Amino acid sequence: MLPHIFNPAKEVIVQLKEHGEHAYFVGGCVRDVLLHREIGDIDIATSATPDKMLQIFDTVIPVGIEHGTVIVRLNHVSYEVTTFRKDGTYSDQRHPDTVLYVDQIDEDLQRRDFTINALAMDIDGNIIDLYGGQADLQKKLIRTVGNGVERFTEDPLRILRALRFSSQLGFKIEAQTLHAIQEVQSQMRNLAVERITNELAKLAAGTYAAKGFMYLRQTKVYEQLPVMIHYPYIMERIPNHMKPIHSLGGLTAFFHMLAPEIRLQTWITGWKCSNRTKKEAMNLVEAISYAKTHGMDRWLVYRLMPELQTCFLTITSLLNPNEEMDETYFYQLFNQLPIRSKQEMNWNGNDLSRCFPDWKKGRWMQETLLRIEKEIVMGRLDNSKIKIKEWLQWNPPVID
Ligand code: ATP
Ligand code: MG
Repeated sequence: MLPHIFNPAKEVIVQLKEHGEHAYFVGGCVRDVLLHREIGDIDIATSATPDKMLQIFDTVIPVGIEHGTVIVRLNHVSYEVTTFRKDGTYSDQRHPDTVLYVDQIDEDLQRRDFTINALAMDIDGNIIDLYGGQADLQKKLIRTVGNGVERFTEDPLRILRALRFSSQLGFKIEAQTLHAIQEVQSQMRNLAVERITNELAKLAAGTYAAKGFMYLRQTKVYEQLPVMIHYPYIMERIPNHMKPIHSLGGLTAFFHMLAPEIRLQTWITGWKCSNRTKKEAMNLVEAISYAKTHGMDRWLVYRLMPELQTCFLTITSLLNPNEEMDETYFYQLFNQLPIRSKQEMNWNGNDLSRCFPDWKKGRWMQETLLRIEKEIVMGRLDNSKIKIKEWLQWNPPVID
C-alpha cells in the first residue's frame, strides 16, 4: 500500500507510466516514510528524459536540466523529477564529467550516496532495496553504497553528508564508512563553499546535533572546513551536549560568542553567507550581548526577530549551562509587548515635526523616536498621540 502522504504525488508517476516510462519515489522521502519521520520534498526518478517530460507535463521548470533534473508542477505542488542516470568520472570532484541517462532504476540507485538513501518505492508502495537500505535503517547505520573510499573520492561532500544524516537521524556511521572518511577527508578542500555551508546548516539543525558534532570532532573533518581550518580550537569549545540550532545565522552567532576574537564577519565571509543569514546573525549577537548586560526585558524581546526566538533561547542556554533558563518568562514578555514593530507606533516623524515646527530636521528626530519607541515597549508610555505629546513636554528632544 502506498502511504497516504504520497497520494498527491502519485499522479506524476501515473502520467509518466501512461507514456510508457518507469518512475519511482526515491531518496530521502522513502527513507523518511519508513522511519515514520516527517518527509521533506518528494523526489521522483524516471526513465523519461527531460525532453520527454517537457512534452508530458504542462508546467516543467528546468532547474538542473544538465543533470537530468526538472521541477514538475502539478496541482500547485512542485516535484523534483530526475531522469535515471549513472554518473561518469568526477575529475573536478564537484560534478560528474558526464551524465549518462539509463533506462532502469538499478543503476540510478547505485550512484546514490548511502544505502538508506538508495531506496525506491513504486506507486503500490513496494520497496526496491538493492543495497540493504532497510536493514541499515533497522540497525540505524549510515553506510556508503559500495566502496567508501571510492564514493567519497568521487564527491567528498558525501563525507559531510554522512555527518549531517547522523545528526538528523541519530544514526551511527558504519565502521568501514567511518574509516573511509578518515582516509579521504583531505580532498574536501576542493569543495565549493556553498555546498559545505548548506550541509553544515543541516548538521547544526539536526535533532541529534550532539552526535553530528561528535563525529565532526572525532573524524577531524572540521580541519577541512572554511574558517574552522584556521581556528580549529573552536571545536573544543562546542559543548558535548550541543543542541540543534535551526539557522545558519544562529550557528555563526554561536561560534562568534564561543570565541569572540573570531569576528562574526569572518564566519559570514568565510562561509559565503547570504545577507539574510548575516542579518540574523547580527540580530542574535546583539540580543545575546544585550541580555548579558541588561538581563531579559521587553526591549530585548521586542528587538529580536520573532523567527529567531527559539534560536536565541538555545544559544543562551548553551552559553550559560549553569543558569536556569526561564523560557516561560521570555514568552510572557513577548506576549505583554504593547507593540510588535515600529509601524504600530501611533507616532512618526511628521508628528514630531509638527510638535517642534521651528526645529531643523536632524539626528535628534531618530533619537527621539527611538526613545519614544522604547518607552512604549517598556510599558512606561501609552501608545497614544495625546500621551506621547504630553511625555515630550517633560522629556524634550536633545540636540547635541
Ligand atoms: P533531505 O531530507 O535533507 O532533503 P535527502 O536524502 O532528500 O534529504 P537530498 O540532498 O535532497 O537529500 O538528496 C536527495 C537524494 O539524492 C539523496 O537521498 C541521495 O539519494 C541523492 N544524493 C544527493 N546528493 C548526493 C551526492 N552528493 N552523492 C550521491 N547521491 C546524492
Ligand atoms: Mg531531499
